Amino acid sequence: MRIAATVAAIWVVGIAGAAMAQAQGTQCANPNALGIARTVEIDTTAGPGFGFEQYKAHDFLLLKEVVFTFDDGPWPNNTKAVLDALANHCTKAIFFPIGKHALYHPEILKEVAAAGHSVGGHTWSHANLSKGKGENAIEEIEKGFSAVKLAIGTNPVPFFRFPYLQDPEAARTYLGSRNIAMFSHDLDSFDFKMRKPEDVVKSIMTKLEKKGKGIILMHDFQQSTAKAMPELLNELKAKGYKVVHMKAKAPVTTIAKWDEAAKGEIKGATPGGDRPTASVVRTIEEANTNQPVAAKK
Ligand SMILES: [Zn+2]
Repeated sequence: MRIAATVAAIWVVGIAGAAMAQAQGTQCANPNALGIARTVEIDTTAGPGFGFEQYKAHDFLLLKEVVFTFDDGPWPNNTKAVLDALANHCTKAIFFPIGKHALYHPEILKEVAAAGHSVGGHTWSHANLSKGKGENAIEEIEKGFSAVKLAIGTNPVPFFRFPYLQDPEAARTYLGSRNIAMFSHDLDSFDFKMRKPEDVVKSIMTKLEKKGKGIILMHDFQQSTAKAMPELLNELKAKGYKVVHMKAKAPVTTIAKWDEAAKGEIKGATPGGDRPTASVVRTIEEANTNQPVAAKK
């Protein structure tokens, strides 16, 4: 009985502690951090769409709630600056990396995933899926997810954003069949057209004041965005906005064929290149190193 009582008490303390940490953002060194107001779990079965620019089925954000999304990374310096700014505000985002970039800079994307952000897919090569044949769209989608998986070492979340927001019906149907959610946006920062960080902040704040809430489209690939992040987050906090973190109920399951195709894209890759070197190269004969080396003349 005593043991049972102790276990029950620990359980209650554990719940209280976790709830308090969530409510007060404990472990966050910044007293003016945005933090995370709400974490939502998305059941991606049949490929639901989010972001009213294109998909209007699920209006789940409350007034003043925002979701951060970052496209086209990972990229040296800029992605890291975005990560640092988010970490300083103890908050989270969704990243939609390009497959090729994921394989150029896997160590950066690993950091994104390790920080607890949701990492989805944005095609292999940022192709416009409205052009070309359907088969090409499947390859772009799948190889993109496989490349992200290869970079982060774990299955990505089944969240996808179409490059240029070009979403042909066949590709949407395919994503539905793969239980991958589609992300448009409520608010496009157009950060890729801006060189000055202050313009990025102004663009987002002005649009947010009109709409009151929304999924925000930004690019961690862009230097202007990377530089704008600290000020943007400070302003959002000052104006009373709240961050919603979107997670997936279950990860995407990549397809072996495309995992192999992504592996083949790694520079210098050869068949069997992913086997541990020790199982490929074995020393079978070695000179006796105990023998005295001839003295140098
Ligand atoms: Zn993009």
